[in-house]
Amino acid sequence: MIIVMQPGVAEADLAEAVRHVESLGMKPHVLYGVERTVIAAVGPERDGLKESLEAAPGVAQVLPILAPYKIASREVKKDTSVITAGSLSVGGTKLGVIAGPCSVENEDQIMKAAHGVKAAGATALRGGAFKPRTSPYSFQGLKEEGLKLLAKAREATGLAIVTEVLATEDVGLVADYADVLQIGARNMQNYRLLEAVGKTNRAVLLKRGPSATMEEFLLAAEYVLSGGNSQVMLCERGIRTFESHTRFTLPLATVPYLQTKTHLPIVVDPSHGTGHTYMVPSMTLASIAAGCDGLILEVHHDPAHAASDGYQTLSLTQFADVMQRGRKVAEAVGKTM
Ligand code: PEP
Ligand code: MN
Repeated sequence: MIIVMQPGVAEADLAEAVRHVESLGMKPHVLYGVERTVIAAVGPERDGLKESLEAAPGVAQVLPILAPYKIASREVKKDTSVITAGSLSVGGTKLGVIAGPCSVENEDQIMKAAHGVKAAGATALRGGAFKPRTSPYSFQGLKEEGLKLLAKAREATGLAIVTEVLATEDVGLVADYADVLQIGARNMQNYRLLEAVGKTNRAVLLKRGPSATMEEFLLAAEYVLSGGNSQVMLCERGIRTFESHTRFTLPLATVPYLQTKTHLPIVVDPSHGTGHTYMVPSMTLASIAAGCDGLILEVHHDPAHAASDGYQTLSLTQFADVMQRGRKVAEAVGKTM
């Protein structure tokens, strides 16, 4: 059920409505919109529920939520959610730009990346400390040492840190260092992990599984939201198709589609979405034109010698160039970057 509160509702009435929802055995999630505050009441519905909720003071309207995902649905919140984590803000008119290497390799490398992407206008630093690699023989990341280096880079540049958490048992450790917990494509349907990040107070960047449908993607986000964490960004990073000219197929129609279905902001990853450095600038511009709220890009001071994903990584010069060109596209669609 969506409980739409009256405009300018008193805090006391809101608190009372929340208690009322709880007393009916449902879980209340308060969503603050620009015009209205609503409560998404999730849980078993019984007869007379609508009438009972409608009678509460400050309540304007009670409506059913039709989508299978409840808190993520646009039905409950008309305006796009703005997710803020330190220097990163995603969902407003300024695009959030997360840039940095695929993996953290050493102090010199992450510092060069951090200073370089900041100078070009990035608003957050990415870098994997725990890496999900297809082969167990590939570089698996520096783990806690990598997290420490990311924290140093944040200290030096002020950039928020976006880094992946691979396993439930690492959530506490990664959350101690990161501003944004990245859930990788391979883990999009790891429900225990989604529940665990849902219990943290860190923003979450949820990547789409390479074979996940939009509904599965949104229901994965719902796991995090229903755990009490409202700071969720969705990331389109490409899907698996029969096509082999790109590493994955990057469907940009995801952006306008999701915008009709959810209030959560949408980030696009043209690096993993294409798998080729030369395609990344064009697809970055296309993502901005499609209306994304943010971008995540792999950038390294020396892509040819990157420990992972060098073939899809931009150099610092290429990144600065795409930022400059991206600003023009952003302006054309009423945004800044
Ligand atoms: C990454 O961001 O480096 C990564 C492993 O991404 P994905 O989970 O989308 O493959
Ligand atoms: Mn990568």
